[in-house]
Amino acid sequence: MAIKKKIAKKLVKKPVKTAAKKSPPKKIIAAKKTIKKVAKKKITTKKIVKKIVKTENTQKTLEASLIELIKITSAVLPDDVQKVILEALHREEKNTTAEYAMNIIKANIELAKKKLQPLCQDTGTVLFYISHPVGFNQNHFTSLIHKAVVKSTELGYLRQNSVDSLTGENSGMNVGPGHPSIHYHQHGKKTVEVKLMLKGGGCENVGAQYSLPYTPLDAGRDLNGVRKVILDAVHKAQGKGCGPGVLGICIGGDRGAGYIESKEQLLRRLDDKNDVFELAELEKEIVETSNKLGIGPMGFGGKTTLLGCKIGVLNRLPASFFVSISYMCWAYRRQGIELSEKNQIKKWLY
Ligand code: SF4
Repeated sequence: MAIKKKIAKKLVKKPVKTAAKKSPPKKIIAAKKTIKKVAKKKITTKKIVKKIVKTENTQKTLEASLIELIKITSAVLPDDVQKVILEALHREEKNTTAEYAMNIIKANIELAKKKLQPLCQDTGTVLFYISHPVGFNQNHFTSLIHKAVVKSTELGYLRQNSVDSLTGENSGMNVGPGHPSIHYHQHGKKTVEVKLMLKGGGCENVGAQYSLPYTPLDAGRDLNGVRKVILDAVHKAQGKGCGPGVLGICIGGDRGAGYIESKEQLLRRLDDKNDVFELAELEKEIVETSNKLGIGPMGFGGKTTLLGCKIGVLNRLPASFFVSISYMCWAYRRQGIELSEKNQIKKWLY
């Protein structure tokens, strides 16, 4: 009787078990789906976290690259500038004030480079020039430049140099309306290049803009007129602007574009040659003539008034003819970097 009961029980249970195997209850299916979803979600979250970490890392790398660019630009003069300064020193007559001034400039350059400290107490206007490919996020890059400038100021690579023009208040950060000055340019390459110029206030003050014809000098709307006003600017700058200087010049444009272009001319290497024959000749002549004026380093007299002159041209309105002149002091701080895909410094540009 007991055996019969056991068999009967088995017979009752079996069909239930088989049915469960063939088609699991809805609850189990739903549970399995939820488990799968959770697992999938975990993988997606991991991916997102990984992406965030990666973005944060490349941002940090970019910030570090920009800080390094600022540090080096502030402390080390580019080779082409150092070379021209040394040549000028050797040209000056021995035991003159001019030679003494050039020797001090040389010692200053060496000391700043050795200690990696700012070349001059005035670390100047911070000007960035960025060449980038299509699809580049300028807003994001600007915010990282601001961060790098603030950090560089904290580290002493830049002086607290930017003040509110109305109140005179210095935020101590070097960041505010118009500062740093950032210029973007889209190019056909896939790489990002960042150039930096630190332009002192003393030399900025002796920049000038002429509207031709300029009757006081009898300067007409031609290259001879341009030549006259440039030499006038050099003459007026004597003893100011911490010469020997370098001129960045723009012929044409409107007033604003002319000044911007004149500064961009200062991004050219001192040993390059203008593609336009007449301008190449004019650049050479301006330097040679200026160095015969006897103004000399710091205005102490001597053979070195200018280290270089670079001239660019923009179209103008028939009614206007501006010549815009940016004067750079001997502390001609400009550098540049090409960034790698991971935002590291791949190459120095000067
Ligand atoms: S003009 Fe140039 S060298 Fe003179 S104080 Fe300013 S940054 Fe320095």
